[in-house]
Amino acid sequence: MKQLCQFLHQPLAIGHRPPHPALSLVSACGTVETVIPFFFFILGTVIGSFLNVCISRIPEGLSIISPGSRCPRCLTPIKPYDNIPVFGWLLLRGKCRNCSLSISPMYPLVEFATGLIFLLTYYEYGISLLTLKWLIFSCLIIVLVVTDFRVRLLPDLVNFPGMAMGIVLAFRVPIADSTAGMFFFLLGFRRFPFQSDLFFNVLTAILGALVGSMLLWGAAALYKLVRKREGMGMGDVKMMAMVGSFLGPRGTFLTILLGTLIGTVIGVLWIGILYLYGWKRRVAERAAKRGLGSVSTIRWAIASQYQLPLGTFLGIGALAVAYALPWLLSLADR
Ligand SMILES: [Zn+2]
Repeated sequence: MKQLCQFLHQPLAIGHRPPHPALSLVSACGTVETVIPFFFFILGTVIGSFLNVCISRIPEGLSIISPGSRCPRCLTPIKPYDNIPVFGWLLLRGKCRNCSLSISPMYPLVEFATGLIFLLTYYEYGISLLTLKWLIFSCLIIVLVVTDFRVRLLPDLVNFPGMAMGIVLAFRVPIADSTAGMFFFLLGFRRFPFQSDLFFNVLTAILGALVGSMLLWGAAALYKLVRKREGMGMGDVKMMAMVGSFLGPRGTFLTILLGTLIGTVIGVLWIGILYLYGWKRRVAERAAKRGLGSVSTIRWAIASQYQLPLGTFLGIGALAVAYALPWLLSLADR
């Protein structure tokens, strides 16, 4: 406990914010500075546990509310003490207590990562509406990143309500983006048609959603035209509409650049690894015997057909833009 407290005491690389003055709690470790970050981390792991439920059930079309957590094989309900975020999995050593079915390490990893993101959000934005906005955004992104990675799906049940939330949040939390203003200026308005911040913020969110979806839809259409096959699904297009409603046009554009860059680098490496380790070698050898080409050409063709989770890379890009960009800009201001 003491070590954990010492760890939490250390300010992260992100600008350390003083705690909210209204919360003058006294902790076991002595100060409020420890209690609040610790609370954010624990809250994150608990929410992460719920995100796991969303990740495993939404693609199957199952309810995320009932029944409670249970083993997928023997259907034994998971006991409350085994369901403690992160520790439950460690306690069980990754196996069902009843039938020893192994439980994916995805569960503790998602819980721990959500806890870390909650902690980071507190350090970057303190206790504010902005914190609430980025917590909601990162939860949506975590579900999409992991779901796309597992089953290559970006569910509408996450994308559409997420986009609506982004637009609703814009009523209260401004998006730092002047693109909407420039847009009006270019249209010839020397004065904005509505002198209202509210109008402007909501417009920025809607413009972000449009830019995100249109850019990705355009890229998908171009890809289909060039390579004569589907490169990305409509899931990516809808996901970027959601991302756009939170980040605005500029952040969305950066997300697409960063996401596709990460995706290209990892994609090329991964296809190379698949090729080197003889992925589908048997299939290629059979095809070569039928005179469809040399084994290596066929194996390369198969490896390059591997479907990469673009949504996962876009999600990582979106988190980087949401968290690292304001921090980098603040460094540049110093
Ligand atoms: Zn079981």
